Amino acid sequence: MTVHVSLENSPALVLNADFRPLSYYPLSLWSWQDAIKAIFLDRVHVVSNYDRVIKSPSFEMLLPSVVSLKDYVRPARHPAFTRFNVFLRDKFQCQYCGARDELTFDHVIPRSKGGRTTWENVVAACAPCNLRKANRLPREIKMFPMQEPFQPTVHDLHNNGRAFPPNHLHTSWLDYLYWDIELEP
Ligand SMILES: [Zn+2]
Repeated sequence: MTVHVSLENSPALVLNADFRPLSYYPLSLWSWQDAIKAIFLDRVHVVSNYDRVIKSPSFEMLLPSVVSLKDYVRPARHPAFTRFNVFLRDKFQCQYCGARDELTFDHVIPRSKGGRTTWENVVAACAPCNLRKANRLPREIKMFPMQEPFQPTVHDLHNNGRAFPPNHLHTSWLDYLYWDIELEP
C-alpha cells in the first residue's frame, strides 16, 4: 500500500453501534490499519473521514477518523483497574492534602500490614504525603483519604473525565465525546 502522508497520528475513534465510544478510558482508538481492515471485513460503518487519501494499486479511499461497529458490544460496567483510572477516580488530586503535583499511589492499609492492591485500598497521593504516611495505618498517623476509595463505575469515570479530556482530540470526534468541550477555541 502506498501512503503519501505520515499516518501514525491518525487513529480512528471507534463507536459502539449506539454511537457512543466503545470505551472512554482509555478512549477507544484504532490505528488506521485496523480501521481499514475492519472496513474491508464489513464490521464497521465509516462515520467521518480525515482529509487524507490512502492509495493502493487496487483502491483509493479517505482515511476514516470515526467508525461505528455494526454489531453492538455490551460495554463493561466496571472500568479496568489501572493507574490512570485510579487518578481519574480521585480527580488527579492527592487524597490526603488535595495537591495535584507529584502524584503517586498510596495503599491506605499498607501492603506490609496486609493491604491489597485494589480499588478499595489504593488512592492517589502526592509524594510528600506518601512519604509521611509510609507504612502506617490511617489512624496511627491521622491521615485519612478525603473519600473512601471505591470501585467506580464507567459512569463515575466518565463524569470525572470530562474535566480531563485526552490531549489529542480530532475535531471529528467531538460530536461523540463530551457535551461540554468547546467546539471552537
Ligand atoms: Zn498530599
